[in-house]
Amino acid sequence: MLPTLAYAVTSPHAKFAPFHFERRELGPRDVLIKILYCGICHSDIHSARNEWANSMYPMVPGHEIVGQVVRVGSDVTKFKLDDTVGVGCFVDSCRTCSSCREGEEQFCEKHISFTYNGTEQDLHTLTYGGYSSQIVVDEHYVLKIASHLPLASIAPLLCAGITTYSPLRHFNVGPGHRVAVIGLGGLGHMGVKLAVAMGAEVTVFSRTLAKEQDAKRLGAHHFVATDSTDLNALANSFTFMLNTVSELYNPDQYLNLLSKSGVMVVVGIPEQPLQIHPVSLIMRRRMLAGSLIGGIAETQEMLDYCAEKNISSDVEIIPIQNIEHAYERIIKGDVRYRFVIDMNTLG
Ligand code: NAP
Ligand code: ZN
Ligand code: ZN
Repeated sequence: MLPTLAYAVTSPHAKFAPFHFERRELGPRDVLIKILYCGICHSDIHSARNEWANSMYPMVPGHEIVGQVVRVGSDVTKFKLDDTVGVGCFVDSCRTCSSCREGEEQFCEKHISFTYNGTEQDLHTLTYGGYSSQIVVDEHYVLKIASHLPLASIAPLLCAGITTYSPLRHFNVGPGHRVAVIGLGGLGHMGVKLAVAMGAEVTVFSRTLAKEQDAKRLGAHHFVATDSTDLNALANSFTFMLNTVSELYNPDQYLNLLSKSGVMVVVGIPEQPLQIHPVSLIMRRRMLAGSLIGGIAETQEMLDYCAEKNISSDVEIIPIQNIEHAYERIIKGDVRYRFVIDMNTLG
């Protein structure tokens, strides 16, 4: 077994503290990755604090992992020593169901092994994520990183990047689309960069004017501060909305701004259920959809697309001892736009 150092929480109200555990020995298809950086996703906070009522402890969050291959199993063909690699939101799946065979492992119909707060395919061994020194992953679930941009700014692509890329691609967003990105946080700022790169006209919806200059710098064409705008004036304005809001909100106020047959894709997962008036959908035949991260093939496609277009995340790099402070700032909306842990600070 491989002794591993991490930061973990042991209950919804506990503070993060150093935690020692063991990663499995490498199987023939496994790679051992020394973790260099790990992004902090709002899902880490929802999970650490049991806001989705599905948390298992002790919990080592972190699913925006970049690192270096330091050992490979005997049958590994995709990677060699010293390769720069990424690991996202899941580390295994059944590999046999139709979704797995179609390369949409995120929708595995039998059992997906999330990177943390999940279980291995044996259904009982807890998974531990990227707030740790190293991780062992089957090569199929490891991504190649070819970007020349700073590695810390690549880490958030493994969740925030693919979660926004996948619905934009699924709904063929491109030139001629009027896109609204709702919430300018970790996911939102990647959604803006990607939708702009794909040729859409992009409007950011944010609660206040505070992020207006940032939104424009990220490439957005328009900015709406919801606390000071009469949203009725924007009726019929958007063909596609990407809703990244992490707390409870009123979906009708956004749905009513979609044009005929427009789609709002919800990716944010508030603790509480949303309430929708059917008329918001019925008028203009609007659609409401959801989207979950992306499969391995699409995640690789997204990483390669970002490398080609020089797209990465705007990050603030922190030592691991500052996780609690980072969580408080994320909750306040005070992150520009992703915290990334420098894993060297683990000691
Ligand atoms: P984040 O960085 O905290 O961004 C969320 C943004 O939502 C904030 O920056 C804020 O934008 C807006 N917001 C927060 N509270 C709000 C409120 N009460 N009313 C209106 N807007 C509010 O979080 P993230 O990491 O981007 O994650 C966003 C959500 O997506 C989380 O719920 C996360 O769990 C979920 N998620 C889902 C998937 C998936 O596969 N579907 C993947 C990753 C994450 P402004 O400051 O601009 O108003
Ligand atoms: Zn995430
Ligand atoms: Zn499956």
